[in-house]
Amino acid sequence: MEEIENTFEQFELNRQLLNAVADAGYTIPTPIQQKTIPLTLQGHDVLGIAQTGTGKTAAYLLPILMKVKYAQGKLPRCLIFAPTRELVIQIDKAVGELAKYTDIRHVALYGGLGPKTQIETIQAGVDIIVSTPGRFMDLYLRGEIGVKDIKVMILDEADKMMDMGFMPQIRSILEVIPRKRQNLLFSATFPEKVEKLSYEFLEFPTRIEVSPQATTAETVKQRMFAVPNMQTKINILAYLFKTGEIQKTIIFTRSKDVADTVFEALKGPVIAKGDIRVIHANKGQNTRINSMDAFREGDVKVLISTDVAARGIDIQNVSHVINFDVPLIYEDYVHRIGRTGRANNIGEAITFLTPAEEYHIKKIEKIIRMEIPRELIPLDVEIAPTPFDENQAMLLEIDNQRKKEDPTFKGAFHEKKHPRPIAKKKTGSAKSSGGSSSKGSSSGGKKYGFSKSNKGSKR
Ligand code: AMP
Repeated sequence: MEEIENTFEQFELNRQLLNAVADAGYTIPTPIQQKTIPLTLQGHDVLGIAQTGTGKTAAYLLPILMKVKYAQGKLPRCLIFAPTRELVIQIDKAVGELAKYTDIRHVALYGGLGPKTQIETIQAGVDIIVSTPGRFMDLYLRGEIGVKDIKVMILDEADKMMDMGFMPQIRSILEVIPRKRQNLLFSATFPEKVEKLSYEFLEFPTRIEVSPQATTAETVKQRMFAVPNMQTKINILAYLFKTGEIQKTIIFTRSKDVADTVFEALKGPVIAKGDIRVIHANKGQNTRINSMDAFREGDVKVLISTDVAARGIDIQNVSHVINFDVPLIYEDYVHRIGRTGRANNIGEAITFLTPAEEYHIKKIEKIIRMEIPRELIPLDVEIAPTPFDENQAMLLEIDNQRKKEDPTFKGAFHEKKHPRPIAKKKTGSAKSSGGSSSKGSSSGGKKYGFSKSNKGSKR
């Protein structure tokens, strides 16, 4: 039997697209591309379970661009939805790159800035719209988007869209666009809610899964450091940078405040000011885009980001992903570490966890079906004392976790509230946190030394 050569030439794509693919430097189609491109060209509905980094964007864009072919009329023929403006911008950029030898018109619609320019672009005529569901619906309801020519609809990162509460908007969109159309749905994970959505949205779909559900990219080495507190996380991070163990790195934090704290701690003493940026929802849209571009171009070495701000960012050759906090939306672990180890580069994901985060990492390990190897804190890293308030907050969190698992558990921490921990001990020093942590810390206290061993010592 004649073997088909594994190149983009095997697909029925036109010369304009093949040239753009060559310009992009793609030579071999990735597994998701091999499967998705022919099926989509044939008109099938597709359910793709694939993480970022698998080449899923080009997998759906190439056949869609082939179908849209060239500029025609004024109304859009293809709708692509993504959960965040960053991802929308990134997909739109990919459309621009892959469609560069065609006259296909495309626009990115997202919130955070006035709609005037976006409306003008739509009015001039567009073939493909890439949008967040919210902004699309806003403009549709204003009468700015004609939908009668829509032939294809794509939902990218459907799991995240559902997590972010976009379902009502997606339902409204499905009600207003023509029923006869082709649908593609991509999701990094496949929880029950996405499965349900797929029944609603897709007709006899072909399911394409490039890696088993929620398993982490094979090219990513993962490891973990259990630490007593946030300051120790910062100390390890500083150590890893100073020893040159990590270079081009994205640091994920759970909140804006933590992102800012980490930024302040590293900027200057550890990483030259110009080499590090922080992005989160409080940063202006342009600042965020500039920071991402600077990081992508290699002008900035370290990017600190919250999950929402980093959603879908396509940045390659990241040597390390640091989970400064364990994500509370467990699928985000998969998304986060999907930033490294892309396109055959070996990447590394390092996670820091406090005793209060043990609970969450266990859940994540269940989802990814593997135990993340643990490493001892390097000898040269100072283990900081746990401030009283942080210690109390962790104990309370652990208590709540135990209650969640066992409704009959009364809560060691609350019992100790009366009498309250002695106020004068609130010095934020090592001695204070230990004494008052009581039995509530017994589940994690000893193991992590977040009562007794917080000596602030350099071992
Ligand atoms: P995605 O999973 O769509 O976010 O794509 C991840 C990265 O892989 C992007 O930077 C793409 O430009 C790149 N990419 C997509 N397809 C290929 C390919 N066939 N060969 C090499 N790189 C690719």
